[in-house]
Amino acid sequence: MQGVVLAVASLAAGVVAAGALLAVAEMLAPEQGGPPGRCRRCGAMLPARTFAPILRHGAAGACKACGAGPAVGPWFDVLAILGTALVLLLSRGRSLGIDLLVLWLGLVASAVDLHRRAIPNRLLLAAALLALIALAPSGLAAYLAGLYGLIALLGLGLLIAWLGRGGFGLGDVKYLGVLGLALGWRRGLATLLLAVLLGGFYALGLLVTRRATARDAFAFGPFIALGSVVVALLGSAAGH
Ligand SMILES: [Zn+2]
Repeated sequence: MQGVVLAVASLAAGVVAAGALLAVAEMLAPEQGGPPGRCRRCGAMLPARTFAPILRHGAAGACKACGAGPAVGPWFDVLAILGTALVLLLSRGRSLGIDLLVLWLGLVASAVDLHRRAIPNRLLLAAALLALIALAPSGLAAYLAGLYGLIALLGLGLLIAWLGRGGFGLGDVKYLGVLGLALGWRRGLATLLLAVLLGGFYALGLLVTRRATARDAFAFGPFIALGSVVVALLGSAAGH
Protein backbone atom coordinates (compact mmCIF):
# COMPACT_ATOMS: atom_id res chain seq x y z
CA MET A 1 0.00 0.00 0.00
CA GLN A 2 2.74 2.42 0.99
CA GLY A 3 4.60 1.52 -2.21
CA VAL A 4 1.55 2.36 -4.34
CA VAL A 5 1.11 5.75 -2.63
CA LEU A 6 4.81 6.48 -3.18
CA ALA A 7 4.63 5.52 -6.86
CA VAL A 8 1.51 7.66 -7.48
CA ALA A 9 3.08 10.64 -5.64
CA SER A 10 6.27 10.20 -7.69
CA LEU A 11 4.31 10.18 -10.96
CA ALA A 12 2.39 13.32 -9.89
CA ALA A 13 5.69 15.03 -9.09
CA GLY A 14 6.91 13.93 -12.52
CA VAL A 15 3.96 15.64 -14.25
CA VAL A 16 4.63 18.90 -12.37
CA ALA A 17 8.35 18.70 -13.17
CA ALA A 18 7.61 17.96 -16.85
CA GLY A 19 5.44 21.09 -17.11
CA ALA A 20 8.15 23.31 -15.59
CA LEU A 21 10.88 21.75 -17.76
CA LEU A 22 8.75 22.16 -20.88
CA ALA A 23 8.45 25.89 -20.21
CA VAL A 24 12.27 26.10 -19.98
CA ALA A 25 12.84 23.92 -23.07
CA GLU A 26 10.25 25.77 -25.20
CA MET A 27 11.78 29.09 -24.13
CA LEU A 28 15.33 28.03 -25.03
CA ALA A 29 14.47 26.04 -28.17
CA PRO A 30 13.30 28.67 -30.72
CA GLU A 31 15.93 29.84 -33.19
CA GLN A 32 14.85 33.46 -32.75
CA GLY A 33 14.96 33.18 -28.96
CA GLY A 34 11.65 35.05 -28.63
CA PRO A 35 10.15 36.11 -25.31
CA PRO A 36 8.88 33.28 -23.08
CA GLY A 37 5.18 32.47 -23.25
CA ARG A 38 4.83 33.58 -26.90
CA CYS A 39 4.42 31.51 -30.08
CA ARG A 40 7.81 30.91 -31.68
CA ARG A 41 6.35 31.33 -35.17
CA CYS A 42 3.91 34.27 -34.95
CA GLY A 43 4.59 35.85 -31.54
CA ALA A 44 1.00 35.46 -30.24
CA MET A 45 0.54 34.94 -26.48
CA LEU A 46 0.37 31.25 -25.57
CA PRO A 47 -2.05 30.01 -22.90
CA ALA A 48 -0.77 28.05 -19.89
CA ARG A 49 -2.09 24.77 -21.32
CA THR A 50 0.76 24.91 -23.87
CA PHE A 51 2.92 23.63 -21.03
CA ALA A 52 0.55 20.87 -19.89
CA PRO A 53 2.55 17.65 -20.43
CA ILE A 54 1.04 15.14 -22.94
CA LEU A 55 -2.21 17.19 -23.36
CA ARG A 56 -0.36 19.93 -25.29
CA HIS A 57 0.21 17.53 -28.19
CA GLY A 58 -3.54 17.55 -28.88
CA ALA A 59 -5.52 20.39 -30.47
CA ALA A 60 -5.42 22.32 -27.17
CA GLY A 61 -1.65 22.83 -27.36
CA ALA A 62 -1.49 24.48 -30.80
CA CYS A 63 -1.19 28.26 -31.23
CA LYS A 64 -4.68 29.72 -31.90
CA ALA A 65 -3.34 32.39 -34.26
CA CYS A 66 -1.13 30.32 -36.58
CA GLY A 67 -1.64 26.68 -35.56
CA ALA A 68 2.04 26.06 -34.70
CA GLY A 69 2.50 23.01 -32.49
CA PRO A 70 4.95 22.57 -29.61
CA ALA A 71 8.66 22.95 -30.43
CA VAL A 72 9.55 19.98 -28.23
CA GLY A 73 8.15 16.54 -29.08
CA PRO A 74 6.09 14.10 -26.95
CA TRP A 75 9.21 12.06 -26.08
CA PHE A 76 10.19 14.92 -23.77
CA ASP A 77 6.95 14.78 -21.73
CA VAL A 78 7.08 11.00 -21.34
CA LEU A 79 10.77 10.92 -20.33
CA ALA A 80 10.34 13.86 -17.92
CA ILE A 81 7.41 12.23 -16.11
CA LEU A 82 8.77 8.67 -15.97
CA GLY A 83 12.36 9.79 -15.33
CA THR A 84 11.42 12.06 -12.44
CA ALA A 85 9.25 9.33 -10.91
CA LEU A 86 12.08 6.78 -11.30
CA VAL A 87 14.66 9.10 -9.69
CA LEU A 88 12.30 9.81 -6.76
CA LEU A 89 11.75 6.08 -6.25
CA LEU A 90 15.43 5.05 -6.64
CA SER A 91 17.45 7.93 -5.15
CA ARG A 92 17.84 8.01 -1.43
CA GLY A 93 18.84 11.00 0.68
CA ARG A 94 22.09 12.50 -0.43
CA SER A 95 22.05 11.92 -4.18
CA LEU A 96 18.44 13.01 -4.85
CA GLY A 97 19.26 16.65 -5.72
CA ILE A 98 22.12 15.70 -8.03
CA ASP A 99 20.15 12.89 -9.71
CA LEU A 100 17.20 15.19 -10.45
CA LEU A 101 19.57 17.89 -11.71
CA VAL A 102 21.36 15.44 -14.05
CA LEU A 103 18.02 14.16 -15.42
CA TRP A 104 16.39 17.56 -15.91
CA LEU A 105 19.52 19.14 -17.41
CA GLY A 106 19.80 16.14 -19.75
CA LEU A 107 16.22 16.53 -20.99
CA VAL A 108 16.38 20.28 -21.61
CA ALA A 109 19.90 20.15 -23.11
CA SER A 110 18.83 17.30 -25.46
CA ALA A 111 15.65 19.12 -26.56
CA VAL A 112 17.52 22.34 -27.35
CA ASP A 113 20.49 20.53 -28.94
CA LEU A 114 18.18 18.53 -31.25
CA HIS A 115 16.28 21.70 -32.13
CA ARG A 116 19.12 24.07 -32.93
CA ARG A 117 22.38 22.10 -32.55
CA ALA A 118 23.61 24.10 -29.55
CA ILE A 119 23.49 23.88 -25.76
CA PRO A 120 22.92 27.40 -24.27
CA ASN A 121 25.56 28.75 -21.87
CA ARG A 122 22.94 30.14 -19.49
CA LEU A 123 21.41 26.67 -19.09
CA LEU A 124 24.83 25.17 -18.28
CA LEU A 125 25.71 28.02 -15.92
CA ALA A 126 22.42 27.65 -14.03
CA ALA A 127 23.00 23.88 -13.79
CA ALA A 128 26.56 24.39 -12.47
CA LEU A 129 25.28 26.74 -9.72
CA LEU A 130 22.51 24.28 -8.80
CA ALA A 131 25.10 21.48 -8.68
CA LEU A 132 27.17 23.48 -6.17
CA ILE A 133 24.08 23.77 -3.96
CA ALA A 134 23.03 20.12 -4.42
CA LEU A 135 26.53 18.90 -3.46
CA ALA A 136 26.39 20.67 -0.07
CA PRO A 137 24.89 17.75 1.93
CA SER A 138 27.72 15.47 0.72
CA GLY A 139 30.42 17.74 2.14
CA LEU A 140 33.97 18.64 1.17
CA ALA A 141 34.83 15.27 -0.39
CA ALA A 142 32.03 15.69 -2.96
CA TYR A 143 33.24 19.21 -3.85
CA LEU A 144 36.79 17.89 -4.34
CA ALA A 145 35.56 15.00 -6.49
CA GLY A 146 33.48 17.53 -8.43
CA LEU A 147 36.46 19.82 -8.98
CA TYR A 148 38.54 16.89 -10.30
CA GLY A 149 35.55 15.85 -12.44
CA LEU A 150 35.17 19.35 -13.87
CA ILE A 151 38.87 19.54 -14.80
CA ALA A 152 39.08 15.95 -16.15
CA LEU A 153 35.95 16.19 -18.31
CA LEU A 154 36.71 19.65 -19.67
CA GLY A 155 40.21 18.41 -20.60
CA LEU A 156 39.03 15.17 -22.22
CA GLY A 157 36.13 16.98 -23.88
CA LEU A 158 38.50 19.50 -25.46
CA LEU A 159 40.70 16.64 -26.67
CA ILE A 160 37.70 14.88 -28.28
CA ALA A 161 36.51 18.17 -29.82
CA TRP A 162 39.98 18.72 -31.28
CA LEU A 163 40.22 15.16 -32.64
CA GLY A 164 36.60 15.21 -33.89
CA ARG A 165 37.03 18.49 -35.84
CA GLY A 166 33.57 19.99 -35.48
CA GLY A 167 31.45 16.88 -34.89
CA PHE A 168 31.72 17.45 -31.16
CA GLY A 169 31.11 21.10 -30.19
CA LEU A 170 32.23 23.37 -27.37
CA GLY A 171 28.68 23.19 -25.94
CA ASP A 172 29.19 19.42 -25.53
CA VAL A 173 32.55 20.06 -23.79
CA LYS A 174 30.99 22.53 -21.32
CA TYR A 175 28.06 20.15 -20.73
CA LEU A 176 30.55 17.38 -19.86
CA GLY A 177 32.35 19.78 -17.49
CA VAL A 178 29.11 20.52 -15.60
CA LEU A 179 28.41 16.77 -15.34
CA GLY A 180 31.94 16.17 -14.02
CA LEU A 181 31.25 18.79 -11.34
CA ALA A 182 27.87 17.30 -10.42
CA LEU A 183 28.76 13.60 -10.53
CA GLY A 184 32.43 13.68 -9.49
CA TRP A 185 35.35 12.40 -11.56
CA ARG A 186 34.57 8.65 -11.29
CA ARG A 187 30.96 8.84 -12.46
CA GLY A 188 31.88 11.72 -14.78
CA LEU A 189 34.41 9.53 -16.62
CA ALA A 190 31.87 6.67 -16.75
CA THR A 191 29.38 9.12 -18.31
CA LEU A 192 31.91 10.20 -20.95
CA LEU A 193 32.76 6.59 -21.80
CA LEU A 194 29.09 5.61 -22.13
CA ALA A 195 28.25 8.72 -24.20
CA VAL A 196 31.14 8.07 -26.61
CA LEU A 197 30.11 4.40 -26.96
CA LEU A 198 26.42 5.22 -27.54
CA GLY A 199 27.23 8.07 -29.95
CA GLY A 200 29.77 5.87 -31.74
CA PHE A 201 27.27 3.05 -32.26
CA TYR A 202 24.71 5.55 -33.51
CA ALA A 203 27.21 7.07 -35.99
CA LEU A 204 28.22 3.59 -37.13
CA GLY A 205 24.54 2.72 -37.63
CA LEU A 206 24.06 5.83 -39.76
CA LEU A 207 27.11 4.95 -41.86
CA VAL A 208 26.13 1.30 -42.33
CA THR A 209 22.56 2.19 -43.35
CA ARG A 210 24.01 4.96 -45.57
CA ARG A 211 21.83 7.61 -43.99
CA ALA A 212 24.93 9.75 -43.42
CA THR A 213 28.53 10.01 -44.60
CA ALA A 214 31.64 10.28 -42.42
CA ARG A 215 31.59 14.07 -43.00
CA ASP A 216 28.10 14.60 -41.52
CA ALA A 217 27.69 15.77 -37.92
CA PHE A 218 24.83 15.01 -35.52
CA ALA A 219 23.70 16.37 -32.14
CA PHE A 220 25.86 14.67 -29.49
CA GLY A 221 24.10 16.23 -26.46
CA PRO A 222 21.41 13.52 -26.19
CA PHE A 223 24.10 10.80 -25.94
CA ILE A 224 25.85 12.67 -23.11
CA ALA A 225 22.44 13.10 -21.44
CA LEU A 226 21.59 9.40 -21.77
CA GLY A 227 25.01 8.36 -20.45
CA SER A 228 24.77 10.70 -17.44
CA VAL A 229 21.25 9.61 -16.47
CA VAL A 230 22.14 5.91 -16.70
CA VAL A 231 25.30 6.46 -14.59
CA ALA A 232 23.41 8.56 -12.00
CA LEU A 233 20.56 6.05 -11.69
CA LEU A 234 22.89 3.02 -11.49
CA GLY A 235 24.87 4.84 -8.78
CA SER A 236 21.66 5.54 -6.83
CA ALA A 237 20.38 1.99 -7.25
CA ALA A 238 23.75 0.68 -5.99
CA GLY A 239 23.50 2.94 -2.95
CA HIS A 240 26.22 5.53 -3.66
ZN1 LIG B 1 1.51 31.22 -33.59
